Order: sequence, then structure tokens, then C-alpha cells
Amino acid sequence: MAETSQQPVIFLSEGTKRTKGRDAQRINIMIAKAVANAVRSTLGPKGMDKMIVDELGDVTISNDGATILEEMSIDHPIGKMMVEVAKTQDAEVGDGTTTAVVIAGGLLKGAEDLIDEEIHPTVIIKGYRFASKKAKEVLAEIAEPVTLKDKKMLKSIALTAMAGKVSEGVEELSDLVVTAITQVVDEEDGKITVDVDNVKVEKKQGSSLAETQLVQGIVIDKEIVHSGMPKKITDAKIALLDAALEIKETETDAKIEITSPDQMQAFLDQEEGMLRKMVEHVKKSGANFVVCQKGIDDLAQHFLAKEKIAAVRRVKKSDMDALVRATGGKIVARVEDLSASDLGKAQNAQEKKIAGDAMVFIEGCKNPKSVSLLIRGGSEHVIDEAERAVHDALMSTATAIKDGKIVSGGGSTEVEVAMRLREYAKTIGGREQLAIEAFADTLEEIPRTLAETAGMNPLDTLVSLRSMHIGKGGKYIGVNVLESKLSDMKALNVIEPLSVKTQAITSGTEVAEMILRIDDIIAGSSKGKGGMPPGGMPGGMGDMEM
Ligand code: ADP
Ligand code: MG
Repeated sequence: MAETSQQPVIFLSEGTKRTKGRDAQRINIMIAKAVANAVRSTLGPKGMDKMIVDELGDVTISNDGATILEEMSIDHPIGKMMVEVAKTQDAEVGDGTTTAVVIAGGLLKGAEDLIDEEIHPTVIIKGYRFASKKAKEVLAEIAEPVTLKDKKMLKSIALTAMAGKVSEGVEELSDLVVTAITQVVDEEDGKITVDVDNVKVEKKQGSSLAETQLVQGIVIDKEIVHSGMPKKITDAKIALLDAALEIKETETDAKIEITSPDQMQAFLDQEEGMLRKMVEHVKKSGANFVVCQKGIDDLAQHFLAKEKIAAVRRVKKSDMDALVRATGGKIVARVEDLSASDLGKAQNAQEKKIAGDAMVFIEGCKNPKSVSLLIRGGSEHVIDEAERAVHDALMSTATAIKDGKIVSGGGSTEVEVAMRLREYAKTIGGREQLAIEAFADTLEEIPRTLAETAGMNPLDTLVSLRSMHIGKGGKYIGVNVLESKLSDMKALNVIEPLSVKTQAITSGTEVAEMILRIDDIIAGSSKGKGGMPPGGMPGGMGDMEM
């Protein structure tokens, strides 16, 4: 720094707090570690759950890293970066969120130790980059192929993704997940694409997880609006309306003066006429089922019922979009514009009672690649966690099919990669070697944590794992948390998609690097709170100069 003048140059407004150099790094690392620690204990099937209560008293009980971090409403910018890691991981591959955050936290902890040994952050960053690249190469080498036909393997992937999140009914759920995903796979010129959005997930409290069903079509959590309408329509022609079947209130305050009963009647007749016209438009198009994103007036319902047209109203936008994909229909914004070519098609549209509530099932859609999973479960919390587990399982299976590559879980892959990284570190030498070794240690946080959740001694476990991986055929040995011993994870069917691992390394390394680059925290005081939650973050936040 070129601080030549004797007088300190003041360029910040009064009240602005500044923390520089080591102090800044230490604070940031501390926060990142605290966030990682908050989710660490949830890792794996024996991981603990977290209960988060928000200001309104709503309770979320989850084992899912991304969900926990999101619900925790973290305010600190570094904490938010860690939450972003989980979100990126979730968006890219849908699973491995806890893993990604644990890796980020581990890399920063490693960096802290190296900084204490006077190694400059830029050197650490360089070493981490080498290590990340090498780790991904090793992963690609040890990964094994999987194909669409490999149903048993795909089921193992679904089971591994759901492990710890649901217990009862997990076998049935993973079978359904695999059936659903393999059904929506698209294969064109040998290129496989899977659009997970084609599997709509709907939930209804009641019964048990094992009663979850796969519906060949779309399920909407709405009832048919009028009791006089047919409850079942075969050969459904579906109008998708983004328009209210109501008379719009005028925007301006208009007054209509009615001086005689005749005028009153004429006024009502006119309203009725307008609603009747709307229904006529629907009928003329040939539709026998109306899915309306907005409201439907009582009188319009009556007219529709008279025409034997069934209708549901106030349907969510996302459901409308799912119906577009499934039935091939178009969303129409003005009833007058509705024509036969806008209608979606399905073999059946009917109302069914599920746990006493009416739901609409639109089955046998034009696009057979649209299915719904209707999740059942005894309580709200069970069903919510099952939904997250199913999301992870759907994404994991889809990712594995797209990549065609899998690795074994339970920390086996991490130990193998760490071992190869340590060999590689020796070839690099210098101070970067230390950073690469710290990277290897970080990957071993995964088996170490799994061992802890299983009540095993983490250090002894790591020592045995390392020695078994040196031996022949040791590649798949990992932490069998259910039996608290070391086992061949491939034989145990603990299988994960390759990209879950590579993505966790990529996003974990990126955020660690970003945080390490910061050596100056400048916090303006104008907002009065400087982004600090009152006691919201664990771990020595009082040191923070903000
Ligand atoms: P994440 O959010 O990172 O996916 P999870 O809580 O889902 O976190 O835990 C994933 C970890 O648990 C992975 O390392 C995976 O290999 C491991 N795992 C899953 N099932 C088993 C099992 N039966 N035995 C040992 N480890 C398992
Ligand atoms: Mg997972």
C-alpha cells in the first residue's frame, strides 16, 4: 500500500467501521465455519434433524441442508454466501447441499490454519484451485457408468438420496421415483434429456407414505366448483383460462342511477347476458372442462353446469403451466379468443376424494411424459420432509441418467480422492502442497462426520479407512452408518451421481476462494444495523466491528 502521507486520508463518512487484514479474514472465516457447523450434524442417514421456528411460530423440521439454511434467515453477508452455496448445489444437481456447505466450511478452516502459519491467502487459493481440478479428474476416473436400463442401480440412487429423510415407505417411494423419472426421459439422437418439471409433486395429508401414488397425468388440489357439474368427463377437452368468468368491477367510481324496477331488471339482465356470452364462447370452442386461473361467478358456474361443462377455479400458475405441458393446450387470456385449437386433451378429467378432500385428476394426457406423484403421509411435517426427500431423489436419479456416471457414497469416494490428492500434493511441493493437503483433509470431513453421526470414533475410523483404501479393492470402503462399521458401499447399494460430488467441490471451492479474497470489511453505519442480526449468528459475533 502506498500510504506515504503522514496524515491519514479520510474518505469514509463518519460512523463507518472498517476491519482490515487478518482480523477481517478471521471474522469472515469464523462466520462461514459457524454456518457450516450448523448443518454439519444433519449429514447422512443418521444425521440429526433441525427444528426451525420462524417469527410467526411456523415450524420446519428438516434434515435437508438447503432447507435449513434457507429457513434460518441468516443476515450476515458471509453467511448468505454460504446459503448461496447450498442453493446453487440444489439448483444444479438437487442433492449434496450439506456436503457442499461442509466442504466450504472445511476449506476455510484449513485456510485459517495455513494463514496462522504465515501462508498468504493467494497461495492457499492457488493450491485449492490445483486441488479442486485434480479432485475432479480423479472423480471422473473412478466414476462408473449407469444407464436407463439399470433400474436397480437407479433405485439405489433414489434410496441414497432419501436416506435419513424418510424411513417408513422409502422402498415404495424410490420405486415410484424411478418409474416416474424413467417415464419422462427423452432420448433424441442418442442424447438424453430429463425434465424433472414433468414430474409434478402434489401432497395430501392422510394415510401413510407407503400409500403415495404415481398418477399418469396431472393432479390439482382443487374441487369442481358446482355440484351440478359432471364429476367425471371422458375424452376431456380442456380450456385453460387466465381470465375471470366474472363481470369486472369498474376501475373508476361510477354511479348508476336506477329509478324504476324495470331499469333494475334491465341492468341485471345485462350482467346475466354478459356471463351467458362468456359461457357460450367456452361452449363454442368445444371445451367440456374449464381450468380457470381466476374466479368463476356463481351464475357462470350455473350456466356451465347446464351445459355439462365441469370447471375448477383459482388454479395456481404452476399448475396451469403443468397442464400446458401435459395436455398440449394453450393458456388463453380472453374468453372471446378461445378456440378449438387452444384446448388441451386428456382421456379423463375427474374429481376424486382423497382423505375427504376433493382433488382433480387429469389422466391419460396428450403428452404421456407428464406424471404426478401424490405424496401421502400422516402429518404435515412428515409429508413436507417427504416432499423434500422426493425432490432430492428425483433430481439425483435424473442427474445420474443425464451424466451416465455414478460413484459410491458413505464417504468412500471422498477418502479415495483425498488419498490421490495427497500423492499429487507431493509432486507440486512448495507452500501450495500444504493447501492441497488441507483440501484432502477437507474431503475427509465427509466420512469423519458420517462416523460421528453413527457414534464411531472419527479419528480411528479415518485411520482405518485410509489404510483400507491403500489396499486392493478398497476403493468402495466407506462408513456404514446403519451398522456403525466400515463396509463396501457399492455392495450396500449406497450410490450417488458423479455430478453431486463434482458440483459440491466446485461450489464449495468457489465460495471459499471468494471469502478468502476479502481482506477489508467496510460497513457503513447509515442503515443503523450494518446487516447484523441481533444475536442471530452463533459464535463470537460481538467481535465484529461493524
Ligand atoms: P446432502 O445434503 O449433502 O445430500 P445428506 O444428509 O443427504 O446430505 O447425506 C449425504 C451423505 O450421506 C452422502 O455422503 C451419502 O453417501 C451418505 N449416505 C447416504 N446413505 C448412506 C448409507 N446408507 N450409509 C452411509 N452413508 C450414506
Ligand atoms: Mg442428500
